[in-house]
Amino acid sequence: MPKYDVVIIGSGLGGLFCGNILSKEGLNVCVLEKQKHLGGNLQTFKRDGKIFDTGVHYVGGLGKGQNLHQYFKYAGIVDDLNLKRLDMDAFDKINFQGKTYSYAQGYSNFIETLAQDFPKEEEALKNYEAQVKRICNEFPLYNVRPNLGQDNEHVYYERNVGDFLKAITPNEKLQNVLAGNNLLYAGIPNKTPVAIHALITNSLIEGAYRFKDGSQQVANLLVESIQRNGGTLLTDSEVVKLNFENKKIESAELKNGELIEANSFISAIHPTLTLAMTDSKLLRRPYRTRINEIEETISVFAIYISFKPESFPYLNYNYYHFNEDSVWSIPNYNPKKWPQEYLFLTLPSSKSKKYAQTATAMTYMKYDEVGHWRNSSIGNRGDDYESFKKYKAELLIDQIGKQYPGFKSSISNYYTSTPLSMEAYTGTRNGSIYGILHDSNEPLKSRIAPKTKIPNLFLSGQNINIHGVLGVTVSAVLTCTELVGMKYLLDKIQNA
Ligand SMILES: Cc1cc2nc3c(=O)[nH]c(=O)nc-3n(C[C@H](O)[C@H](O)[C@H](O)COP(=O)(O)OP(=O)(O)OC[C@H]3O[C@@H](n4cnc5c(N)ncnc54)[C@H](O)[C@@H]3O)c2cc1C
Repeated sequence: MPKYDVVIIGSGLGGLFCGNILSKEGLNVCVLEKQKHLGGNLQTFKRDGKIFDTGVHYVGGLGKGQNLHQYFKYAGIVDDLNLKRLDMDAFDKINFQGKTYSYAQGYSNFIETLAQDFPKEEEALKNYEAQVKRICNEFPLYNVRPNLGQDNEHVYYERNVGDFLKAITPNEKLQNVLAGNNLLYAGIPNKTPVAIHALITNSLIEGAYRFKDGSQQVANLLVESIQRNGGTLLTDSEVVKLNFENKKIESAELKNGELIEANSFISAIHPTLTLAMTDSKLLRRPYRTRINEIEETISVFAIYISFKPESFPYLNYNYYHFNEDSVWSIPNYNPKKWPQEYLFLTLPSSKSKKYAQTATAMTYMKYDEVGHWRNSSIGNRGDDYESFKKYKAELLIDQIGKQYPGFKSSISNYYTSTPLSMEAYTGTRNGSIYGILHDSNEPLKSRIAPKTKIPNLFLSGQNINIHGVLGVTVSAVLTCTELVGMKYLLDKIQNA
């Protein structure tokens, strides 16, 4: 094995985007992935000849001139993406207290549409736009400009989204409606930093897109780019140890004992897993304790539905449904009332514009509800586990059937995933949906820098910065600036 310039652990978007940047910048990179397939949460799977998305359903910022578009342009993948823009007048529909509200794309359209349901709140909605934009403007990399340490990002990690919305309007219904897609960030009103709400919501209002035939295309394009640039990607290569000698990491040790040497290492997996790979004293105990004690986001139960041919329409929006009088389901989580909310969406397919081939529905589920099956291997968890999944899936299907007549009779087959599947496939602790939980009450605790005290070990992925396609792309850029320079890299991206 050659000695690489950079070894990257994990081939999710975080690892692949780092691989793309660094290989483009002339470094000899090697991406190590423990699974048989590359892509992490970008992966799709096929059943009954149809494609299902797993961990990415829609994204913002992909319109020309927008942030993700510019990052993907630099990466050389933007022109090859097969995208479907969601409905301009309703990319998200929020069903709350029995009425459906729409989020439209473009701020004026967004305000006009919601003002039809909240005519007295037009000024509040205009203020919402101004405040969200003001917050987003404080995040340099979000705006594709170098972070020179002069911005006020931290302020918006110290303020929670619940208080922010209360300051926008005293109208509780509108507060709820404005937070209606908080499943996108596992929102908790008195904990989730307003930054997370603003950055995600703003990018979707600016432009909301799905990946036609699935998000695997993003992973495939990044893989091809890395290979074209001379990089190496190895699957079935689980890193179990980082060997520390001479005050730095010398090699990544694989499960089969093989050593992969490099000058620098980027770990784009959960930081607690990275810490467990080295006992180097350079990573001091308080740092380890802080990171190991960060709370995780809740987990999720999902069903993947395969439709009979030409039976269920393709819906060019995402549907969020709430059974309770609040959209903040996590603090009110009650297994007896499950599912209290769900997100339901169909995947656009190149085979038909009119009909959906597949759909996904997801709702929160706590790890404890399945934790006792964790020690059995996948496919071997016994009849109890299978009955549990079937029971839960049918509860969820019944709920969706109430909103979409004809839904149940259109299903030819369905598959499920539980917090145990999430844990097994992504390596997140307790199958957490988006990795670590950012808490505005302890903002510094959950902020993890890409740089570590080991001079050649860097971190990346959704736990550095924030989760999601845009968040993880920014995280990868941030990590790579440590190796190639902030101004240099951002100049290149801006001028791509
Ligand atoms: C159900 C769900 C729905 C989502 N929906 C959306 C959405 O609609 N839009 C959006 O923008 N975001 C969405 N997200 C979030 C988004 O998918 C993630 O934030 C993002 O993909 C995380 O990328 P990552 O590279 O940090 O991690 P991952 O994609 O988890 O990649 C980590 C990789 O590291 C590998 N790995 C772990 N340990 C090791 C090891 N020891 N050695 C080698 N490899 C290892 C894993 O196998 C995995 O491939 C969703 C997430 C989930 C779970």
